[in-house]
Amino acid sequence: MSSSDAALAAISLALFVGIYMASLVLHELGHALGAKWIGADVYKIVIGEGKRLARFKALGFLWEIGINCLGGACYPEYPKPLPGMRWRKIAVIAAGPLMNLLLVAAALTAYAACPSPESFLAKTLLLAALTNVFLLFGSLIPFESTEDKQPTDMLALIRTLGVPESALADLVRYSYVARATDLVKDGKLAEASALFEEKCSGTQADFGLLMALAHELLSRGDPKGEEFWNRLLAHPEFQRGQEREHILARFLSSIALCPQSPTPALANAVETSADELGHLKPEDPTGQLVRGAALVRVGNVMEGLELLRRAERTCRPSTPMRALHATYRAAAELGRGEVQLAGEFLHTALSLDPSSEIARALRTRLQSTSPSDPLRKEKT
Ligand SMILES: [Zn+2]
Repeated sequence: MSSSDAALAAISLALFVGIYMASLVLHELGHALGAKWIGADVYKIVIGEGKRLARFKALGFLWEIGINCLGGACYPEYPKPLPGMRWRKIAVIAAGPLMNLLLVAAALTAYAACPSPESFLAKTLLLAALTNVFLLFGSLIPFESTEDKQPTDMLALIRTLGVPESALADLVRYSYVARATDLVKDGKLAEASALFEEKCSGTQADFGLLMALAHELLSRGDPKGEEFWNRLLAHPEFQRGQEREHILARFLSSIALCPQSPTPALANAVETSADELGHLKPEDPTGQLVRGAALVRVGNVMEGLELLRRAERTCRPSTPMRALHATYRAAAELGRGEVQLAGEFLHTALSLDPSSEIARALRTRLQSTSPSDPLRKEKT
């Protein structure tokens, strides 16, 4: 490849990325305008899933930029129940792909009007049309993203058609979930709990939020954590066996990270949950890590450490898993007052994964551990 070919390839790639991002933004803007049109508000528009890189206000909307910029999402908020909720929701869903369809038509019309089909402008217009065809088809394939559990427009449409009208009225109650989930992510747990208490619908929509709240409150030693955990256990979704392994693992992980000694009731729940998770996924290293760390935390040191060692053997080839092992091992050691050992494991964890939020929180806790800490007296 000559240097001019390389330059051309680089320009083409930059052009494609630019057009793709612009089309994605317009697709989400389509959803947002659709939401406004049917009388709903828009909480935020997200471009890119995963870790949040930026957050700002523009064009009257709250925008969030994530690290994985392949897809996006728009979060409508329904301030009050409106007649014909199903058709309103369908209009919001359809507005995104409709925007891409309009862009294809506009780009092709402009292309046809171009005097020379070989010109840079003509080629750019053709690329814009193709990119929007690609986005349009992407939104028409029914699937759910693995990271943020966001359904594509087609899957959202199928779900909306299958839900009874009475349940659709719940949209009004549970459109607060995105707002409350952001409060949890920002560490504003009191505000998030208050919003949850006010609007909780007890349906699948706020089940994930309840799980996140219970996890965060418990792992920070907030007394409300136990109450939220009990509500999670009583939730119809949990009773139905939804995501049981996932929930047990998050519970055990929150106990492992909790700065205070768990109450006897919670310690009992840890033993039962660790047993159940062990039966459901005996060889899963992440499961072994959270079981081990939680068992050490409630005083079952022998069994807990054995599980942590077993997980370590399986984790060895993978750097992220080794970082996770060191983090949970540090949490366990910190929990039983082995401050020096905890520090060593934390050092390993942070050198393997400096961005780990759990490890950073543990380090802050370790640094503030005072000699009068009852956990440290336990050791001697
Ligand atoms: Zn869409």
